[in-house]
Amino acid sequence: MKLVDNLYAYVWQGEDNNCNSYLFANVLEGGKHVLIDPGHVVTPAYRQPGWRRLVQEMENDGLDASAVGLVILTHSHGDHCEAAGIIRKEYGALVAASEAESRLYSRLGGVVDVFLEEGELLLGPDGQLKLDVFLSPGHSPGHITLYWPEREVLIVGDVIFFLSTGRVDLPGGSAAALKQSIDRLSKLDVEYLLCGHPHGHPGVIEGKETIEKNFAFIKANILF
Ligand SMILES: [Zn+2]
Repeated sequence: MKLVDNLYAYVWQGEDNNCNSYLFANVLEGGKHVLIDPGHVVTPAYRQPGWRRLVQEMENDGLDASAVGLVILTHSHGDHCEAAGIIRKEYGALVAASEAESRLYSRLGGVVDVFLEEGELLLGPDGQLKLDVFLSPGHSPGHITLYWPEREVLIVGDVIFFLSTGRVDLPGGSAAALKQSIDRLSKLDVEYLLCGHPHGHPGVIEGKETIEKNFAFIKANILF
């Protein structure tokens, strides 16, 4: 589904666990796309075809999966990164993640081509898509979030959800780090908060006021 400008949101609608995916269309050289968190190839419990469904949904929007030129991983949990290997192998896409996540990802057999660091990330032949990369550890040690200042879009992976946060009991998790990450992100101007999972809500949260209330609820009731 087209969300704003050339940004598309794909909310996971199956019964099993899988992530939401987001895509910047036609931003790279040759009209290639940037896909964030492609999710599972097949979900672990009910064997649902996560990647095939995403390809279908992209096709419904007129977007060809073979035109994905870059995959960005917010972090390297299987429900976010499993399909990245296929996209890299079949379509020659590059895979980008933080260095800390790439170490975890390589244990799953994954390869990261581009290390993302905190700071500005310019994408496209003329750098026309400007994103800010924030290191946002807590749910996982090298978790990144992406901010698109031009449209005030924040892609948060598993840092926060609707009225909830990512879990901190997985390897490398830290409640103190997550608290700091959330505190920092809550200071940004955000019109679209794009979460890594549906969580009693599709996870595409729109409107500054609603997003501020979501941060306030989390700070008051969950971590702070
Ligand atoms: Zn995760």
